[in-house]
Amino acid sequence: MLLSNSFIPILKNNPSEAKIKSHQLMLRVGMIKQASAGIYSWLPLGFKVMKKIEQIVREEQNKIGAQEILMPTIQSSEIWKESGRYDDYGEEMLRITDRQNREMLYGPTNEEQVTEIFRSSIKSYKSLPQLMYHIQWKFRDEIRPRFGIMRGREFYMKDAYSFDVSDEEAFFSYNKFFLSYLKTFKRLDLTAIPMAADTGPIGGNLSHEFIILADTGESKIFTDKRIFDLNSDDTQLEKSSLEKMRKKYEQFYAVTDEKFNKDEFEKIVSKENQLITKGIEVGHIFYFGDKYSKPMNASVDLPGGKKDFVKMGSYGIGVSRLVGAIIEAKYDEKNEIMKWPLSVAPYDIALIPMINKNDNSALDRANNINSELLKNNIDAIIDDTDENFSSKIKKMNLIGAPYQILIGKKSEGDLLEFKETGGETQNLPLNKIIEIINKQKNSI
Ligand code: ATP
Ligand code: MG
Repeated sequence: MLLSNSFIPILKNNPSEAKIKSHQLMLRVGMIKQASAGIYSWLPLGFKVMKKIEQIVREEQNKIGAQEILMPTIQSSEIWKESGRYDDYGEEMLRITDRQNREMLYGPTNEEQVTEIFRSSIKSYKSLPQLMYHIQWKFRDEIRPRFGIMRGREFYMKDAYSFDVSDEEAFFSYNKFFLSYLKTFKRLDLTAIPMAADTGPIGGNLSHEFIILADTGESKIFTDKRIFDLNSDDTQLEKSSLEKMRKKYEQFYAVTDEKFNKDEFEKIVSKENQLITKGIEVGHIFYFGDKYSKPMNASVDLPGGKKDFVKMGSYGIGVSRLVGAIIEAKYDEKNEIMKWPLSVAPYDIALIPMINKNDNSALDRANNINSELLKNNIDAIIDDTDENFSSKIKKMNLIGAPYQILIGKKSEGDLLEFKETGGETQNLPLNKIIEIINKQKNSI
């Protein structure tokens, strides 16, 4: 892709209205454009990143056997009255009336809608478990929308729902999502820590928030440092292995401020392992049993002939918030260098030719390199503008393709000046560069 043909409206300076670095960078390189408070359009660069995140989230949901559906953004108030949440949800819910004077709402979440779908078709324990998810826009009329898409009013969320016959089976489903979350965030090159959480307006009795560390995060966290050394690599998608994995995480103290108890923290965690810091909530999972199935009468026949309300959980990931969260984790603000993880990068590599007046040889060379890269499924952006070399490099450092080839004086003969964005340059032939990138791609 040629930069001159792309819609990447770059600003010279940091926009003054943005308080945190992800918001600054997203406006600076034109990833988003505000439409009104807490509501954004996604421009090509931002949209590309969000779609790649969405696809990773999707793949990891599919791997645990969750099935993708798509529910509408607009819901009827009827089902929310059945569950009893229509009044409880309060002013965060955007309420609308249609031309027949029917009360509708823009969905802030979908427990009611999915329960309604479930109860109309599933009648027997034999059809359980059912795991369903969708990736859809949500609206919450947040009292203080801020930090760009981090706390928007309209935002893009993956929400999944599990339906099981018993608590035991439901915990199995819960643990599958727990594992899929660890794997999802790892593929995004993020370390997200599962923390015991309050259940809030969604309700219930078992819940974890997945939080990544960031000074600008809105969640205060209290944890045992050793939790950062854990991984889920050897976990199998099977009951006992999953239980073991969750226990491994739960052995360490890790809570947000709602659950924090100072005496308990100091008693359980030794001084040198205590970590008190801030983080961004990127996912949240809940188990809430029959909280919705009971008032909405979603029941199934049990083996002995009796009936019982189905046991449910729900599992959210903030897909649009993750775009900002990755920037918070990866952007070197001081040197103005962004390096996207290759798994979600808007481009794999930037080609930066030094173009002199009346001499297009560097640009020709960039185009030739691009054809080779294309054959190898490597997505490049070429800065074909006639700005000077150093401002081109600065611009590409902000756009954040994880690799760069500088096509100037030093890229002579077969050897190209290649680097990881923000890293040291190496002189390598193109086939070696292709090998490096593809090797990295295959590892995610
Ligand atoms: P928060 O405490 O940040 O308001 P929440 O507990 O209300 O989050 P959930 O209902 O669990 O959020 O939603 C699932 C995920 O959706 C959250 O973990 C978060 O990543 C994302 N999310 C929630 N609210 C917003 C928002 N206003 N803007 C962007 N993403 C959001
Ligand atoms: Mg909220």
